[in-house]
Amino acid sequence: MKRRELLRGAGLAAVATSLAACGANPGGASGDGVSSQKFAWKMVTSWPTNFPGLGTGAAALAEMITQASAGRLTVKVYGAGELVPAFEVFDAVGRGTAEMGHSASYYWKGKAAAAPFFCAVPFGLNAQEMNGWLYNGGGLELWRELYAPFGLVPFPAGNTGVQMAGWFRKPIESLASLKGLKMRIPGLGGEVMARVGAVPVNLPGAEIFSSLQAGAIDAAEWVGPYNDLAFGLHRAAKFCYYPGWQEPGPTLECMVNKAALDSLPKDLQDIVALCCRAVNDAMLAEYTARNQQALDALVREHGVDLRQLPPDVLSALRKASEKVLEEVASADPMARRALDSMRAFRSQAKAWHAVSEESYYANRG
Ligand code: CA
Repeated sequence: MKRRELLRGAGLAAVATSLAACGANPGGASGDGVSSQKFAWKMVTSWPTNFPGLGTGAAALAEMITQASAGRLTVKVYGAGELVPAFEVFDAVGRGTAEMGHSASYYWKGKAAAAPFFCAVPFGLNAQEMNGWLYNGGGLELWRELYAPFGLVPFPAGNTGVQMAGWFRKPIESLASLKGLKMRIPGLGGEVMARVGAVPVNLPGAEIFSSLQAGAIDAAEWVGPYNDLAFGLHRAAKFCYYPGWQEPGPTLECMVNKAALDSLPKDLQDIVALCCRAVNDAMLAEYTARNQQALDALVREHGVDLRQLPPDVLSALRKASEKVLEEVASADPMARRALDSMRAFRSQAKAWHAVSEESYYANRG
């Protein structure tokens, strides 16, 4: 694809226009003021290479940056475990082993207690609301402040939309069904599950299927139909529950090593930022288009037993969630600021969405 077409397709008209001006003087490193210096970056990720949605999103971001910069900034993607393990992306980019990383901030709650707020917290914001909060509600400023001491600059770079509650080997009839249940569930969702009697474990995506199939865990949440079908989770557990209370609209992240970002000419820094914004939008579009197709296949072709979590279970999870969030905030000043900011935005979004999204869905027929 031609560079200008690609940028226009990504909604990056301003960049397309400025690059078109550059193109009037092809190869001119001096006349148009554009440096011809080339940069070759590495992107480490927490996903299997080219895994649908997440891995392909990271690959698309790398390709977009490479194309948009006309090869002045090339980005090579490494899947989880190829250069560093899935859960070492944060440290690897911080120390400069790779210049960028594609991951999810809630994996780093052990390093910064406030980190999950910028990906997903239980009963938090959906995708539309996350974008509103991050871009226009002060969220991104807080996130940048949180990552600054680690030498990292975060960008929103993808969203899956509302996830699923997960896969269970036995049905969840009531709260009692959760007692002692060993479940793969990362982030604060895991903390909440512990409060209602379950035993949370964190595993990289690639290890979920084998652990669930072997019975090492009783349940697992991963993403939603599109990704879960790709991992074959329906072959390891029969019951699929919704909704994804634990991850109502997780924002994926592109973290960039600050020194590496600062070393780029201004136009390449802009391209990195704009391509992250474009992939943030593109990934959500992909999930919106693919999830129901995959869910249809799971139910109709694979006999999956699709169920909503019982109301008393959801109610208990919601109460436990607010307690966990409050405790995290009480113990950490940045988490307090993030929670207060998120809660204020959630109230505002809830009021608006009551008269907009919710009213519309209820009456669309
Ligand atoms: Ca998940």
